[in-house]
Amino acid sequence: MDKLKIGWVGLGNMGNPMVMNLLKAGYEVSVFNRTKDKEAALITEGAKAATSLKDIIDNNDVIITMLSNDAAVKEVFEGEGGLLSANCSGKVIINMSTVSPETSRYLNTLCKKKQVHFIDAPVSGSVKPAQEGTLVILVGATTADFQIAKPIFDVLGKIAIHVGEPAVASSAKLAINYLLGLNLQGLAETVLFAEKNGVSKADMLNIINQGACGNGITNIKSPAIINDNYPAAFALKHLVKDLGLAKAAGLDSPLIHPLYDSFVQAQDEGLGEQDVMAIISSLKNK
Ligand code: NAP
Repeated sequence: MDKLKIGWVGLGNMGNPMVMNLLKAGYEVSVFNRTKDKEAALITEGAKAATSLKDIIDNNDVIITMLSNDAAVKEVFEGEGGLLSANCSGKVIINMSTVSPETSRYLNTLCKKKQVHFIDAPVSGSVKPAQEGTLVILVGATTADFQIAKPIFDVLGKIAIHVGEPAVASSAKLAINYLLGLNLQGLAETVLFAEKNGVSKADMLNIINQGACGNGITNIKSPAIINDNYPAAFALKHLVKDLGLAKAAGLDSPLIHPLYDSFVQAQDEGLGEQDVMAIISSLKNK
């Protein structure tokens, strides 16, 4: 069977490397980004520049969105000239952005009315796994739609886990990002406590990473902590969004509230565009 033609909307930190992998795997990909200069590198690699969202729908079988937040995704789906205003019947639209389960359910309902197959497929893993094609993809879809999208997920990630119908994956994504937030906050507090008592950052991170408390996140974030430099892989503002969505979806555990407040405060201090690990810069001053 010929490879499905893919239209991609949203070329931020994640979208760009993900499209690059699809191109390398031989997919024909049309790209559309609000800020046009982010399309350039991919066009050089063989992507087509779509002129509009209508163009994306008209000329592709599968459309993938990788956008900031609920508002951006809703705008691209149902705004004036949006994906669903075009003749979209029979197409598959996969939203890989992290949004609330409520928004995923809403989009699924809109899509059903237009005979569009909707899949929510948020990802766990940041820019490096996106570059390496080793994301963990959480999929909410009918079984038939999951099978259609699976070859694409196999290029983008190391595993695609089908967790249920559309919207269930968004709940799974909020849960894993709660654990991510706990890890980051715990790592930052631990390193700062140790440093205050004479243990260097490098030694403390070595102790963590050599022992049972080390994990993927502590390893990935260690160089940034040692260099005290936090260019965004996963922007802190996006984790604030995700923790807020988790609260709104009913997470009311003992740690979510102080955790959320801590990241909101960091954002208020101007760290929103930096990487999530910049939480340590905020805590350092407390
Ligand atoms: P990003 O770098 O901030 O990129 C956001 C993208 O959304 C850009 O293409 C941006 O366009 C577009 N956008 C924002 N508002 C828009 C609007 N109103 N209309 C059209 N386009 C709009 O974000 P990212 O890091 O790639 O993350 C994308 C999604 O994946 C988010 O939901 C995030 O929570 C999730 N995620 C991120 C990571 C990570 O490590 N970065 C990991 C897992 C999941 P412009 O270029 O014009 O601004």
